[in-house]
Amino acid sequence: MPRPARATKTATHRRVARPRARSKGKATPERAAEYYRRLSLAYPDAHCALNHRTAFELIVATILSAQCTDVRVNMVTPALFKKYPDAAALAGADREGLEEMIKSTGFFRSKAKSLVGMAQALVERHGGQVPRTMEELTALPGVGRKTANVVLGNAFGVNDGIVVDTHVARLSKRLGLTKETDPVKIERALMPLFPREHWTMLSHLLIEHGRRVCDARRPKCEQCVLNDLCPSSLV
Ligand code: SF4
Repeated sequence: MPRPARATKTATHRRVARPRARSKGKATPERAAEYYRRLSLAYPDAHCALNHRTAFELIVATILSAQCTDVRVNMVTPALFKKYPDAAALAGADREGLEEMIKSTGFFRSKAKSLVGMAQALVERHGGQVPRTMEELTALPGVGRKTANVVLGNAFGVNDGIVVDTHVARLSKRLGLTKETDPVKIERALMPLFPREHWTMLSHLLIEHGRRVCDARRPKCEQCVLNDLCPSSLV
């Protein structure tokens, strides 16, 4: 039985339209810009999914988000922020009570230790305020480069680096932006490909796309706005 004309036409069109050979392994700022443009149109409301009102709340929420979903963190933080509204309150927290409150986010003992240590350092070194530099932030207990990037970009509007979480790491590889697997190396590879003013939003867009379309196990390539450019497309 002859193949339907429409299917043949679509397949031919895709073979011609998708610049696989040219783009494979080559991450250019032009291709990166097109990814960014399309994702911005697809997710105009992309934003930090951790609920917060202040830099202090955001740093607490980000520490809690390690190995945990943002949804789960957002369930825990309202009561937490009410009980510990600032660094001074959290610095003097009863450890057992704090652990109980954050238990559902996992790794609660080490997270409680990080939160209290971070809050004490804020009080001792920064007058209870969250500092605005990468160096000062990463010197705080429990605060790595990823957490610092989240706080700088979303609380202070400072594009010092790019947040690389599991979604950003996976999509960066699938989209052919880098072959690196280490988050810091991925970040270094992404930075020259995107204008600095896009760095914070880039993470939000990739995370949103990773959650909605480019799933870790079953990417929905047929629905993907990047499928004619993506070297990993299954369609
Ligand atoms: S085409 Fe597929 S693999 Fe590539 S970004 Fe889209 S969903 Fe992910």
